[in-house]
Amino acid sequence: LHVVHIAVEMAPICKVGGLGDVVTSLGRAVQEQGHTVEVVLPRYNFFQQSPLLGGTQYETEFDFGGTKVFVSTCMVEGLRCFFVEPRNGMFDGPVYAGNNDGQRFDFFCKAALEFLLRTGRQPDILHCHDWSTADVARSYWQDYHQYGLWKPRVIFTIHNMDFGAQKLGEAAFFSQKFTTVSPSYAWEIGGHPAIAPNVGKLMGVRNGIDIDIWDPETDKYLPLGYNAQKVVEGKAAARAELRKRLNLTSWGDKPLVGVVSRLTKQKGTHLIAHSCFRTIDRGGQFVLLGSAPDPKIQSEFDELKNRYGGDNAAFCFAFDEPLSHLIYAACDLILVPSMFEPCGLTQMIAMRYGAIPVVRQTGGLRDTIFDVDNDKARAAWEMEGSTTWQEDGVDATNGFSFEGTDDGALDYAMNRALDAYYNDRQWFHGLQKRVMLQDWSWNKPANDYIQLYYSAME
Ligand code: ADP
Repeated sequence: LHVVHIAVEMAPICKVGGLGDVVTSLGRAVQEQGHTVEVVLPRYNFFQQSPLLGGTQYETEFDFGGTKVFVSTCMVEGLRCFFVEPRNGMFDGPVYAGNNDGQRFDFFCKAALEFLLRTGRQPDILHCHDWSTADVARSYWQDYHQYGLWKPRVIFTIHNMDFGAQKLGEAAFFSQKFTTVSPSYAWEIGGHPAIAPNVGKLMGVRNGIDIDIWDPETDKYLPLGYNAQKVVEGKAAARAELRKRLNLTSWGDKPLVGVVSRLTKQKGTHLIAHSCFRTIDRGGQFVLLGSAPDPKIQSEFDELKNRYGGDNAAFCFAFDEPLSHLIYAACDLILVPSMFEPCGLTQMIAMRYGAIPVVRQTGGLRDTIFDVDNDKARAAWEMEGSTTWQEDGVDATNGFSFEGTDDGALDYAMNRALDAYYNDRQWFHGLQKRVMLQDWSWNKPANDYIQLYYSAME
């Protein structure tokens, strides 16, 4: 297969959120199966400062829509990338720059198609992502395909329904198949008026995590590398380091509860705040790493910090990747109480580091976290064939979950998790070891996408 991703984000050169991770890790995973994968991106002006793009070379140039367009190329994370640069300063700012994003990205979509056609590329699949590249599907169909100029099939992936439903619906209409990033989220959005007419073409494929980047055994941000066999020692070392760094001075044998999140309503900020209270109330320690784009939410969390911050609770308001690694390694529990969650990576990263997820049952969280008390049968069904299933053949549950959106619902899951920690440490360590052995890599999802690519070509 020859697959070309058309996207406006890609980790690590221009990542804003999960979409950027998917382009890179899915692309790599499919390429590792022997297929050819290329990525077309806008050339942002900030690329000039990127040490990863020093080897960028001239590829071609052409006039399009009254504008001169340059295309350059570079390998990024093992993937061949092409950077489309309209010479009118359109991409001088950040990835998402404000009001005229729609216009900028629409131009990019058309110029990307034009580049592919002019250089004689005949990919089997054009894979585009979210509203920013939704226009690829329509332009391709209207301007190229229907005149028999060109034959690729278009796959469109919805990463978050919250950003421009109408545009997403239109792209779904013009694509051969479209996907969203977990089966449960596909189910949840299937009835949306923008999606429903095309729901027969929709498939949910959950995201994976990059297990080379998220690997506690080789992680350079941890004081001591560890694997499932060494989970207790490894996490103890990380905990000591984190407590020292964040001045969590009251030691003792306390459970450490962590949150790593964008602080937006989607992420359940009211429940995150309540979890701080509940943790301290039950004798634990709480750490929050969160970035709040909204000043109102920020001020709510400033208040929370004034109230609880100190020996038992630490608040870091930043986007800090190295610190996030240490938190996943140090924590006993990681909380993800999202109101909705297309897939969610946090809970899978947590498991890789032996931190037990406590999540709200929605979207991808529902598809990846199986409650130790309530979901044994579902876990066995879903995890059949995974490492855990083959190893012990019995229990594939991996966390604690709740359904409602109020404090009481969260308490139901948190209290059980904290009871388990306090009452049966051996069992808790067994659970940590078990979740570390589960496979949340891209291996299975990449195969699902490859099947989908083939079925789109039929
Ligand atoms: P979303 O893409 O909606 O933010 P995901 O769970 O899919 O949510 O992905 C979140 C990713 O961003 C994870 O890798 C998580 O570790 C990381 N992350 C979120 N907030 C922060 C932060 N404040 N500092 C560092 N990393 C963060």
